[in-house]
Amino acid sequence: MRVIQNQKELRLQIQAYQREGKTTGLVPTMGYLHEGHISLVNQSKTACGITMVSIFVNPLQFNDPEDLRKYPRDTERDLNMLEKAGVDLVFLPTADDMYPFGEPLLKMQMPDLTSQLCGKYRPGHFDGVLFVVLKLLQLFSPDRAFFGKKDYQQLAVIKRMAYELSVPTEIVGCSLIREADGLAMSSRNVRLSEKGRKHATMIYRALKIVKKSYEEGKRDPGELKEIAWDVIETGSLNRVEYIEFVNRTTLQPVSTVSDDTVVAVAAYTEGVRLIDNLEIGDRE
Ligand code: AMP
Repeated sequence: MRVIQNQKELRLQIQAYQREGKTTGLVPTMGYLHEGHISLVNQSKTACGITMVSIFVNPLQFNDPEDLRKYPRDTERDLNMLEKAGVDLVFLPTADDMYPFGEPLLKMQMPDLTSQLCGKYRPGHFDGVLFVVLKLLQLFSPDRAFFGKKDYQQLAVIKRMAYELSVPTEIVGCSLIREADGLAMSSRNVRLSEKGRKHATMIYRALKIVKKSYEEGKRDPGELKEIAWDVIETGSLNRVEYIEFVNRTTLQPVSTVSDDTVVAVAAYTEGVRLIDNLEIGDRE
């Protein structure tokens, strides 16, 4: 596994892959890896000859400096996991290498897809995501790039950006991976106490109850939202930020829940921001 820390070296390696006619897959991450990330790596390995991973805690996408400071980091552990997973190349740039002039002058925005859900509560977050993802796609020119449905809004925004800018990379959406107790895997889970961890499982429980209620005939998003909200906050350490019922593609709120609806949640458990979602119409 090759570990590269600067853009120049990366360019040379990418050119070498291209000369050899290899298909390449990219998995962008912020590190502190878990099985959710590895599932993206595995999907890339199945679809592409070369699998590349970037680890970069992108300061541009953190609207809360405290969240950036507390974001877990362990490069040695990450590299071990990636080596075991059979990754070919890891890119580990510094913020100075990515943003040599500090905050970029170019701004990217997609208000129609980011004024709701997480975008509403994290101003500027998706502008930072769009910027870094486009920059990574430029640097790697991968045939495919893999993103998790865990970050449902992020995937929609990136797909749209790639489409509108004719980015030749295929954007592949991958299933959300959960812990055995249903909690969506996240690098932030490590910040929860044992008790907090238990309370956090109420989030997925609420999503499953919503789905069951839908299957039993409930269609009113207001009513379903109230049910889910109550379930999550029965965990006394949980505070719901939002629960929204939106169309899978447009991310616009729906007035009647249908098979095309996704229910998305953000909640704080012990001050740690957790997100989760469920495509309601899917049979599991
Ligand atoms: P992050 O390191 O949190 O920026 O995540 C990097 C990539 O891994 C993103 O495309 C995420 O959507 C994806 N990812 C994170 N957690 C999960 C999960 N539990 N299941 C599937 N994909 C995930």
